[in-house]
Amino acid sequence: MRKTFQYRIYPTRKQNIILLHVLSMCRKLYNDSLHDRKVAYQDCHCGLSYYDQAAWMKYIDYQGVYAHILQNVLRRVDTSFQNFFRRVKNGETSGYPRFQGRNRYDSFTYPDPYGTGYKIEDGKLHLSKIGAIRIFQHREIGGEVKTCTIKRDGDQWYASFSVELPDVEKKEIETSVGVDVGITTLATLSDGTEIENPKTLDKYDSKVKKAHRDLSRKKKGSSNRNKQKIVLAGIYRKVRNARKDYLHKTSRILADAYDQIVFEDLQIKNMVKNHHLARSIHDASWSMLINFTTYKAEYAGGIVELVNPRNTSKQCSVCDSIQSMPLSLRTYRCPDCGAVMGRDHNAAINIKNRYVPADCGELTPVEMVV
Ligand SMILES: [Zn+2]
Repeated sequence: MRKTFQYRIYPTRKQNIILLHVLSMCRKLYNDSLHDRKVAYQDCHCGLSYYDQAAWMKYIDYQGVYAHILQNVLRRVDTSFQNFFRRVKNGETSGYPRFQGRNRYDSFTYPDPYGTGYKIEDGKLHLSKIGAIRIFQHREIGGEVKTCTIKRDGDQWYASFSVELPDVEKKEIETSVGVDVGITTLATLSDGTEIENPKTLDKYDSKVKKAHRDLSRKKKGSSNRNKQKIVLAGIYRKVRNARKDYLHKTSRILADAYDQIVFEDLQIKNMVKNHHLARSIHDASWSMLINFTTYKAEYAGGIVELVNPRNTSKQCSVCDSIQSMPLSLRTYRCPDCGAVMGRDHNAAINIKNRYVPADCGELTPVEMVV
């Protein structure tokens, strides 16, 4: 099982320049190799492999960039082509691998196990051919480190370590919960618990608006406008981090408390819903919540299941009868059996009950108790 540990690093001004230089050389190599593959194909219909391209690399001067970082760039090119060919083969409309602009290409990787090209010592991350950069490790890395990736996020830098952990044995499922994700309430559980959307995010709302207003007042192309852009990016990063932090806490609670956690399959759900900007932000949060919960559950030997979202709000969780439920109705009142409960609570119970393991026919492995 793979797990990623990410930490902020604090390069000095000089190190910052070196990091940007490495990034820029990597991007150049990426775009050059993409170009070579294109030309080779157009001119003689031959494909270039990773090994073809790696063999040529020694003839080009990459200005002191660590060789294995460069090899990893070629691997990335290779992977993007393999993904492209796979999509073509599957008949999907597929984008040809793209040239990477300055703002898109934002990371490079030491592709070898810990100790080869990088190591942490005395609060510093030692990077071969770059230097020792101060690192803030808020928690220890567990497991065997396989690679180290250096990422840029605006004017900040991060190091993420990909770690191999032994597979965890699956727990027997004793506790199960259904989770309905929503806009007014982030998540409602089938036991009736409600997890609010984080209030901390509201306070950023006015800050974002103000920063946008300030930006629109600055002259295009002026240095003040560029400064304001950095301010705005910083606020967005804070919002993103605050949201992520909250989702980490929420997913931790779910993964610790339940062996099996059932969500709606958002991919199916989103096909039938139209998209607004506000919704897409929620979508991102929901996907992240499911994603975080999935790996935390796996890590603890539990499991996340996804079910078809059809009619989860309209169906009565007691007698299965279906009635129309406009969004404005916050309470479910069943005309057939008289059940009354919160709209999202009802949906969460349906979600929980909907999960049927493949080999169990109509039976659910857990009691249908709420
Ligand atoms: Zn009913």
